[in-house]
Amino acid sequence: MIAACTGLLDESALPVLSIIGAASLTVRRLFEGHLNAVKLAHRYGGIETAALVRTETAAGRILGVWNAEHGDGVVATRIGGGYRLAGTKVYCSGAGMIRRPVTTASSNGEKLMFLPDVASPRVSIDLAIWRAAGMRGSATGSVTFHELEVPDAAVLGGVGDYYRSPWFSGGAWRVIAVQLGALDRIMKLHAERLRDDPVARARFAAAAGAHEGARLHVWEAASRAETPASDPEEVDAYVDLARGTFETAALTIIEATRRNAGLSSFIAPDPLDRCLRDLETYLRQPFLDASRDHAARWLEVRGGRFMA
Ligand SMILES: Cc1cc2nc3c(=O)[nH]c(=O)nc-3n(C[C@H](O)[C@H](O)[C@H](O)COP(=O)(O)OP(=O)(O)OC[C@H]3O[C@@H](n4cnc5c(N)ncnc54)[C@H](O)[C@@H]3O)c2cc1C
Repeated sequence: MIAACTGLLDESALPVLSIIGAASLTVRRLFEGHLNAVKLAHRYGGIETAALVRTETAAGRILGVWNAEHGDGVVATRIGGGYRLAGTKVYCSGAGMIRRPVTTASSNGEKLMFLPDVASPRVSIDLAIWRAAGMRGSATGSVTFHELEVPDAAVLGGVGDYYRSPWFSGGAWRVIAVQLGALDRIMKLHAERLRDDPVARARFAAAAGAHEGARLHVWEAASRAETPASDPEEVDAYVDLARGTFETAALTIIEATRRNAGLSSFIAPDPLDRCLRDLETYLRQPFLDASRDHAARWLEVRGGRFMA
């Protein structure tokens, strides 16, 4: 699966992401990160970075993308034949098992992507800080680079490539595809324990409607984002809207499920406990309010709707 996933670089990945998401959100988070890294390497890499990626997949190791940071994050300083990385990345999934993550760093205020070897003694990994309510198995931690030298052969693409439209914002459809898998599983567990009671059924119907809306939105987002002829700005706006709408739908489903299932949905080993905690944690994604705002501004001057 690791080596073969270059065949999953378009919307054909959707059912796979959702099925894995239904089975385990943690596995899907790692798989989605791997897919994202392979996509970036495929799009921006040259012969040398492709060889680095091949080495990892041939060894059975996944890749990931580590972009999140607090404060100054990681700074890349130009040196002869490459860069020197210093600083800390946060929320790095797969830390400790991924050897060559796509890692972003700022060079003169511009983001660049690197494929550093994080098995180096000049890199330290802290997994102890990950005491999250959910997604505990995702091996998410902080990674600090202590003046690690990275050769030019491990630089991926150039200035502006990481955030390039529509692949950065538009590519977020894969995150909601994974989350959709979790919603599928929660709805199934919810249905299995629905009481014969009109109030419970009303909550269940609200959840089912939100689920169907989320499903349609994810498919449309995937289709638009992966159609080569799409207008990149429209793709960004559509996926931004889909992210926000999906979050609202997921919160509706979580609320209805917890209220119908009651206290047991908070107590292990009830499978709902873990599914709901994982999804609640994983729903926290970057810039959700900014994404909604961007979609609203885009729609405001186009009559409030997307072209069919
Ligand atoms: C399980 C898990 C695994 C992850 N793995 C990775 C990984 O491998 N690699 C990686 O790079 N990241 C990873 N992340 C982190 C992820 O990419 C985001 O950085 C993180 O989820 C951001 O969540 P947040 O709620 O803090 O979002 P934020 O965007 O920080 O938002 C928090 C709140 O602050 C508000 N806010 C933010 N900025 C502003 C602003 N400028 N002005 C006003 N309000 C603002 C938002 O609207 C929101 O209300 C992971 C996250 C999770 C949950």
